[in-house]
Parts: sequence; C-alpha cells; structure tokens
Amino acid sequence: MRHITVLSGGMGGARFLRGLLHGITSGRLPGVAPDASVTVVANTADDLWVHGLKVCPDLDTVMYTLGDGIDLERGWGRREETWSVKAELAEYGVEPTWFGLGDRDIATHLVRTQMLDAGYPLSQVTEALCRRWLGTGPGPGVRLLPMTDDRVETHVAIADPDSPSGRRVVHFQEYWVRLRAQVPAEAVLFVGLEESTPGPGVIDAITDADLVVLPPSNPVVSVGTILGVPRVREALAATRAPVVGLSPIVGGSHVRGMAEQMLTSIGVEVSAAGVGLHYGPRRDGGVLDGWLVDERDADQVSRLTDAGVACRAVPLMMTDLDATAGMAAAAVGLVAG
Ligand code: GDP
Ligand code: CA
Repeated sequence: MRHITVLSGGMGGARFLRGLLHGITSGRLPGVAPDASVTVVANTADDLWVHGLKVCPDLDTVMYTLGDGIDLERGWGRREETWSVKAELAEYGVEPTWFGLGDRDIATHLVRTQMLDAGYPLSQVTEALCRRWLGTGPGPGVRLLPMTDDRVETHVAIADPDSPSGRRVVHFQEYWVRLRAQVPAEAVLFVGLEESTPGPGVIDAITDADLVVLPPSNPVVSVGTILGVPRVREALAATRAPVVGLSPIVGGSHVRGMAEQMLTSIGVEVSAAGVGLHYGPRRDGGVLDGWLVDERDADQVSRLTDAGVACRAVPLMMTDLDATAGMAAAAVGLVAG
C-alpha cells in the first residue's frame, strides 16, 4: 500500500494520524511501504468567524499536531501559547469571550483570513499554511485537504424557554465550547452541506487510495459531515480500496468530546457496534469493510460480522504513540490481503 486516505475530525483524528505516521515510518504496518503517503480529508463544518478571523479548528488541530506545534496536553492550539490579545479584547468587553484565540494561533488565522479575502479558496490557503508545518524533513508525505471550499456549518438546536419557538439554534462551537455540550442537543443541522462541493483532490484521494481509514473521530460532527459532502459516499462505495474504521466509543461512552450527545440526538445507539452499524457495511450501501472495537467491547464483534463487516476487538486507547501505531497496524491488518 502506498496511498492511505484518512477522513478526520480534530483531536481524535489528529492523534490517530500521529500514530499512523509513526507506524508507517517504523515499518509496523503490514503491507504498507515505509514511504507511503497519507492524505487527510478534514472536517470543516466546525469552522467559524471570530473577531473577523476565519478559524478552522479541525484543520488546525491536524496541522499543528502533525507539524509538532500542538499543545499536546490541551489537544488544540499552539504550544507555549500566550493570551495577550484575548486579555486585551476582554478589557474592551468584546464578545465572544468564550472562544479563546491564543497569540501564536492568531497568526495562522490572520494569514488564512488575508488569503481568503484576496480570493484564494480554503484548499489553497490550507496548502500554503501547511508548507510551514508538513512535508518537511524525512518520513512519509502528508497532504491536508479541507472536505470542501464552501461554507458549511454545523448548528445545534437546544431548548430555550425564552424563545417563542421553545428552542434556539447555536453554532456548533458555541454548543461545545460555551455550553460544554451540557444541555441536550434536540437536533443537529448541517447548514450548506447538501449544496457543498468536495474540495479539490478529495474525491480522487478516496478513489485512488489503497486504503481509506475512518479514525476514531466524532461519527456525527466530524466524519458524518465529511460523508455528507455530495459524492463522498459514492466515492467510498466505488473505490477499490478497503475502508476500515476505528470506534470512538469505548465501553459505551466517548473517550473525550461529546460523541454521546451527538449520537443520541440523531438516534444512534451509543456503543461501538452502534456506530459501526450506523456507518454500515459497504455491501448494503454503507461505507465499511472493517471496524475495530476496543477489547472492552469484544462482545459486540459478532453484531458487525453478522452484518458483513470484518471486525476485531483490540486496545483502542490512544495513550501514546506506540499504542496508537498498534491501532493503525490492527486497522491495516483487518482489511489487508
Ligand atoms: P474533535 O473534532 O476535536 O472533536 O475530534 P475528532 O472528531 O477527531 O475526535 C473526537 C472523538 O475522538 C471523540 O468521539 C472521542 O471519543 C474519540 N477519542 C479521543 N481519544 C480517543 C482514544 O484514545 N481512543 C478512542 N477509541 N477514541 C478516542
Ligand atoms: Ca471538530
């Protein structure tokens, strides 16, 4: 295998990608060339405008993580960050105060916003930003592609007794960052998704891949939105590459984030098997050939195999680079040969 394509969200996807790249360079992935290339198709439906700047949380989490600029503990944003701009904005009483942009991070958003204003599409802007972070030094080549150049936004409907309709719709980031996903999501809305066009290279990356991986990213607001971009599902159905996924749900709950709330709001069982069956077997119009669940969920393996998806239970906690590379190796092993 020489070309691996990964459909990624932010933190879960980025962590997995680090392990995948480690597995490739250390020759731990069965049948994968040590100089195999990785194409990341990233979710952009979390993107938002803050203080006049275009912020792309998932693209940046992947870019900073793979370029070794991430704050590993926080899982997002730049390492050794300072917060002077945020403090100054607070002195002016400017909203939103709940979305913190660090000083170093702001440089990225300034470059991005300037290029977008000059007329460049997000894909070209991302390529320009990635020149700094990716593809330098030895090791496999990585390409980072936004799922679309179009504006797509995930919004969440929540109960609001003060509103005449009894509900209010907030941007996904407001739901996640300000409300900490602590109120029930009555519905998840993907504004602009159905009318969007896949970003340059996205369909080819799926069609020409030797392997497509769904990392343990949020199945609704990360992978779900990528799958919702027109023609992406068709490309997955048509590609000759096997498609393998890893469960973000371990022992009946998410490891971090808010996959539980999102799955509940779309009526999907919050379990490793529930997510795997939600993606569905390729033979029945779904997207999966293989699905990995955590050892704790070994009793759910037969639900996938009965449905026609190859399935194994292996450790799925991304505790360190080695453990994560092991997950990547298991994913490759499940569908290789
Ligand atoms: P986000 O965009 O930053 O929310 O990140 P993603 O969508 O890429 O990933 C979020 C998902 O990663 C959550 O649903 C978590 O359950 C999952 N996740 C995080 N850490 C781990 C881990 O160590 N193992 C597994 N299996 N899933 C994880
Ligand atoms: Ca995200």
